Amino acid sequence: MTTLLSRRGLLACGCGLGAACFAATSLPALAASPSAKKTTLGADEALETLKQGNRAYQTDSPVRAVQGRERRIEIALGQTPFVVLVSCSDSRVSPEILFGRGLGELFIVRNAGNCVDTAALGSIEYGVSQLGVPLVLVMGHSRCGAVEAAIDVVKNNTVYPGSIGRMIEPIVPAILSQRDKPGDYVENCVRANVSRVVNRLRSASEPSLLDPLKAGKLRIVGASYSLDTGTVDFFDEA
Ligand SMILES: [Zn+2]
Repeated sequence: MTTLLSRRGLLACGCGLGAACFAATSLPALAASPSAKKTTLGADEALETLKQGNRAYQTDSPVRAVQGRERRIEIALGQTPFVVLVSCSDSRVSPEILFGRGLGELFIVRNAGNCVDTAALGSIEYGVSQLGVPLVLVMGHSRCGAVEAAIDVVKNNTVYPGSIGRMIEPIVPAILSQRDKPGDYVENCVRANVSRVVNRLRSASEPSLLDPLKAGKLRIVGASYSLDTGTVDFFDEA
C-alpha cells in the first residue's frame, strides 16, 4: 500500500525529482510563508543572543542549537535570520559553532579577511532590506592569514599569485594605519580592518542600510574572535 501511494505521488508530479519532490510536496502545511515572517528580535536582543551563545561555547556548556528535520521543515519556505555576519573563511572560525546557533539563524558572508566587495555588500543589503535582519556583525580573528598576507605585502613587497593580491588590497590601508602603534601588530591590524569595514557600512550611501541605521532599527558592530580562548570580543558597538 505504501509503495502504491508513493508511486501515485511520484506519478502525479512531472518534475522528475522523484522521491525528494514527493517528500517536499507532502509537507506544505508545516512550512513558513516565504516573505511574511521576519525575526522578532531587535538589534540589542540579537547582539545579546550572540554574546550568550559565545559564552556557552567558551565554557563547553551544552547548547541545543536548532537543527534537524523539524527545524529544516519549519524554515524550508522562509528564513528568519537575526544577524548578517561578515567573517573570515578560516576553517577555525565556524560562526554557527562559536555562537551556538543552528539552521536559519545566521546570514553569513565569508571570505578570507572578512572584506566587503560588491557581492558582499549586496548580500548584506539583501539580509537587511529583504530579510529584515536588525544586526550586522563584522568579525575578524586572531592570526588571520589574510591580514598577515597584507602585512607581508606592506613590509616585504610580497607578490601573491592569481587573485590573492587583489583580494587582500582592501586590507592594506588598515595595515598602514597601525604602523608604530603599541601592542600586538597583527591583532591591531585585524581590529583596524574590522573597524574600517564597520565604518564603511555605517557611512554607505545605500538607503537600505542608512535608513534603518538612522531609525535605530539596525546596528552594525565589530568583533574579533580569539583562536586560543574561543572568546568573541565585541567592539565598535556604538
Ligand atoms: Zn582569517
